[in-house]
Amino acid sequence: MKLIKKYGLYLIRWQLSTPILAIVLKLLSNMNTLTATIIANLIGGLIFFWVDKFIFRKKSDVPLWEIKDNVECFDCHKKNKGYRIVEWGNYDRSEDKNPQYRCKECSIKKMKTINKWTILDRFVFLFSILWYKL
Ligand SMILES: [Zn+2]
Repeated sequence: MKLIKKYGLYLIRWQLSTPILAIVLKLLSNMNTLTATIIANLIGGLIFFWVDKFIFRKKSDVPLWEIKDNVECFDCHKKNKGYRIVEWGNYDRSEDKNPQYRCKECSIKKMKTINKWTILDRFVFLFSILWYKL
């Protein structure tokens, strides 16, 4: 649900760039189309970098844990106190229908496998969307 909300926000943001592109392209209409488009995208990039940074911001830099008593570890199947990371950066299992709890040892191992998205990952994601649009 959170992803759909973010996706909707992103689509609205995408439309906000339309008037900027239209105005700049109109003002530069006597210019070569490619050059005018590069300039328009540069202006759009200078503005929307900050908007995109807000939309794709990390929610938490530290992991948000959920701890439950008397559960079976998803990995080693020992019955004990169970831990799971609910949110951490872009890792979000807050709406997980079948949450996986792990013993302390296995949860530490699992924690090391969670990769938080870096700024570079977000740019790659953003450019792949742009590429798809072209
Ligand atoms: Zn375990």
